[in-house]
Amino acid sequence: MIFERDFYRRCGVATDKVLLVTGGGRGIGAATARLAAQGGWAVAVNYAANSLAADEVVRAIRAGGGTAISVQADVADEAQVLKMFAHVDSKLGRLTGLVNNAGVVDRAQPVAEQSVARWRRMFDINVIGSMICAREAVRRMGTAHGGAGGSIVNLSSAAARLGSPNEYVDYAAAKAAIDAFTIGLAKEVAPQGIRVNAVRPGLIDTEIHASGGRPNRVEELKAGVPMGRGGTADEVAQLIVWLLSDAASYTTMSLIDVSGAR
Ligand code: NAP
Repeated sequence: MIFERDFYRRCGVATDKVLLVTGGGRGIGAATARLAAQGGWAVAVNYAANSLAADEVVRAIRAGGGTAISVQADVADEAQVLKMFAHVDSKLGRLTGLVNNAGVVDRAQPVAEQSVARWRRMFDINVIGSMICAREAVRRMGTAHGGAGGSIVNLSSAAARLGSPNEYVDYAAAKAAIDAFTIGLAKEVAPQGIRVNAVRPGLIDTEIHASGGRPNRVEELKAGVPMGRGGTADEVAQLIVWLLSDAASYTTMSLIDVSGAR
């Protein structure tokens, strides 16, 4: 089989940098996919349901001369994730970068009103989903598995240290789990040439707030941010793409805030 990667290589496009961005169709993931493509990454743009948004990111990357594909999978579903990685293998080649970006919040509620079903969804998508993807990435990147190393960036949140009382303590707890997972995995796979870091955004202007029932959340809370404003998805993407790059070659096990001092 001739990989699309080989086609692009013959065209002079450097595609030994193969990246999967989960939840890459919208928000921080979309900004990351676009910026990484500008940096020479061939990008697989994962989505759960919004194929139009993912296809638009792919279209924009290709229009700029980059390489991209879209791929559907619910990251909380192991079988779908395995299928997604196999698809990326066959279309782009061996993965060298993963951004575990797919994530959800739920409606603002005190813990006393939250259901177990809500908590399971919160952890299934935000924690287990990231862990399944990280495991599959290690199986491709790790030198013990015949890989050439790579970089994994996990999306945590400032919520992991703030706790998000009366809003989503469950989300904060899930992101704290991502921090611990990042620390442990970074130590475990450093000898295999894989760096693992987490980015902790603060209040970032994306559609995630509307999905939690508060479309104006950034406006409402920005006065409490020492910098006096919310951040943009592009500002977070800059850090993620740097962490993916060789410029961050000695940076691993880091939990880095992008929060305007929130
Ligand atoms: P967003 O605009 O709501 O986008 C979320 C993305 O995740 C969408 O592309 C969505 O796919 C995808 N997704 C959701 N559930 C999924 C699943 N089960 N499987 C695969 N993909 C799934 O969110 P965002 O604000 O960019 O957030 C991105 C990450 O940053 C999340 O991990 C979030 O927790 C974290 N974060 C955000 C903020 C903030 O203020 N925005 C702050 C701290 C941390 P579809 O397009 O198909 O729906």
